[in-house]
This record gives sequence, C-alpha cells and structure tokens, in this order.
Amino acid sequence: MKSFKDFFEKYEWNDIKSKLEKVTLSDVEMSLQKKNKTIEDFLNFLSPVAAKKLEVMAKMTQQLTQKRFGKTIQLYAPLYLSNECQNICTYCGFSLDNSIKRKTLSDTELMIEASVLKSMGVNHVLLVSGEANKTVGIDYFLNAVHLLKPYFANISIEVQPLSEEEYQRLHDAGVNAVLVYQETYHQEVYKEYHPKGKKSNFNFRLETPDRIGKAGIHKMGLGVLLGLEDWRVDSFFNALHIDYLQKQYWKSRYSVSFPRLRPAEGIIEPNFIMSDKDLLQLICAYRIWNEDLEISISTRENEKFRNNIISLGATAMSAASKTNPGGYAVDKESLEQFETSDERSMNEIKNIIKKAGYDPIMKDWDAVYSGI
Ligand code: SF4
Repeated sequence: MKSFKDFFEKYEWNDIKSKLEKVTLSDVEMSLQKKNKTIEDFLNFLSPVAAKKLEVMAKMTQQLTQKRFGKTIQLYAPLYLSNECQNICTYCGFSLDNSIKRKTLSDTELMIEASVLKSMGVNHVLLVSGEANKTVGIDYFLNAVHLLKPYFANISIEVQPLSEEEYQRLHDAGVNAVLVYQETYHQEVYKEYHPKGKKSNFNFRLETPDRIGKAGIHKMGLGVLLGLEDWRVDSFFNALHIDYLQKQYWKSRYSVSFPRLRPAEGIIEPNFIMSDKDLLQLICAYRIWNEDLEISISTRENEKFRNNIISLGATAMSAASKTNPGGYAVDKESLEQFETSDERSMNEIKNIIKKAGYDPIMKDWDAVYSGI
C-alpha cells in the first residue's frame, strides 16, 4: 500500500450512501454491543436510523471519554499568521478572488499577538495561514515556530499541505501536531469548490496525512467541512482515512474536528444543513468507534452546544479565538476567515468547564515526553 489514495479508490461515494440508508436498528444495536468496533460499526452509528439510539450513544460516549481521558478539556487558541492565499475556495473568506486587504504578520507583530495569548494563559497555540507558498512558506513557518517555542508548551499548525521533508523540519523545530482537512471526499464535486490553485489537486491533498505520518509528527488532525456535501458519507470517508492512518503510522496520535460551514464575506451557503442533533450523533459515532481519538470543538459552534458537549465526548476546545491575522492586537479589523459563534473569553470558558465538573487544561503535553 503506497498511500491512502490506493485504499480510497476501492470505495464509491454512492455505495456508501446507499449502505447508510439500508442500516437497520438491529444493525446499530449489534454494533453497540461489540467489543472491538470496526469501520462498518462506525457506518452503522452514523446512519439515519441510529438517531433513534442517540440517548444510549450519548451515555456510552460520556463513559468512554471519561475512562480514556478523565474529566479534562484541553484549551488552545488559534494564531492566524496570514490571510494571503493562492487558492480559490468557494467557502472561504481568504479566497484569492475575494478582494480583501491581505496581511502577513511580521516578527514583531507575531510576538505582540503571542504576548496577548500568553496574558490570557494560553499555552497551546494553533498557527493558521492561507496557502501562499512564496510569502508564507516553510521558512516563514520555521521562523515563527522558532520565535514562539520559548513561550508555548505546545505548537500545532494548520497550513497548506507540505512535503515530507518540510514536515520533518517542522517536527525537528518542535511542532507537535499538524492539521489538514480534506474538506470533502466527494472527488467528483471537489473541483467545483476548489476551482483554482494547488488545493484543486484532490489527490495531493488526500495523500498529505501520509507525508505527515512518514515525517513522524506526534499528532495529526483530520476533518471535513460539514455543510459542503452529505455529512454522513463525508464523515465515513474521514473515519476510513483515520483508520488507515492509525494502522500505518501507529506511533502518532489522532484528532478529529467538526467545522460546520460558518458565514464569511463572499462565500457560498451550505448545501447540506447539519443540525446540532446530527453533530452530536457524529461525535458519539466517532467516540464509540474509536476510544483513543481526540475530539476537538472550535468556537464555530454556539455557546449552548459547547456547554453541553464538554461532558459528551469533547477532549479539546479552542477559546477566545480570533480568525484574522493580527486579530488579538495588531490589526483587529483585518478580515476574518469565518465568523466565530462562541465569543466568550478564555476565563469564561474555563469557568464553564469547571462548572460542568471538568478540569480545563492549559498544558497536558510536554516535549520531553516525546523526545523532541
Ligand atoms: S480554505 Fe484555505 S486554501 Fe482555501 S481559500 Fe481559505 S485559506 Fe485559502
């Protein structure tokens, strides 16, 4: 097996769609009782009929999460480095065809943003940028990691797909996790959402987690943009991807995120609406299928949903997020990638977590444990 692409090509979107529709309640019940769950069980948990078992699934999710992760929620905040981007993505405010003011943080600006995050108690920072290799490429990222490393215990990165060698350099520089989302696994329509730029190459993106795994990155984050295509089918493929990666790169840890399409300037409306109940079912499906998977909930979600999900499967949450470069201090008015929904401060989120009987964790991992 050379990469996930070879594996992926054995599956058909429409076959998975019809399988999901044919799942019966007894299929779901049998899967819930199995000791070792497979990807077929995940498909059953994801099916429309499984919504009838949501209460049971939510209880199992709560128990399994507490058993594996304790009553803890890791907190992190994104730090947007740049909104420059060479791609057209029909759902993103940073898209090349959006005539917005472009901004990339200088070293000084980066440190000002970092100091605001530090003053909020943030110890885990997620570096985010658009995809503009010439201005915001590997050298820019290495410099940013070098500058930030003394101040943050945990640095994750969510930028354009890179080469294996570039991931190795990030790993050597102390990057803990790399996040890369396929957005949709529906290959036939992928190009309609990504008409221009390197991101329109479906397979290059699909093979990115393999390069991350080969580079020995400690943790990988995957997900799909919920709202583009049928969330059930897309989530099946996302889980299939994680399942494959866990077997190939078993030393890495894995996390999944659930970005639901949010409003932003000049973007499309969601094609598929996903309700809060649907999202809860999806989170439960992941947890019951895979007890080790980290589950991350961003500020795209509203306050009520985030309050409830603390005890229902979440292991990590972002808080007080700004989704524009300079958004914390140096250029508060620059364009956001998307509107956040939960705008509460870091302290407010910590208090909500404590009120739910959980511990907010600002740092749960140290470089010393993984030998970086
Ligand atoms: S989703 Fe990423 S690649 Fe696409 S336009 Fe936005 S920043 Fe650029």
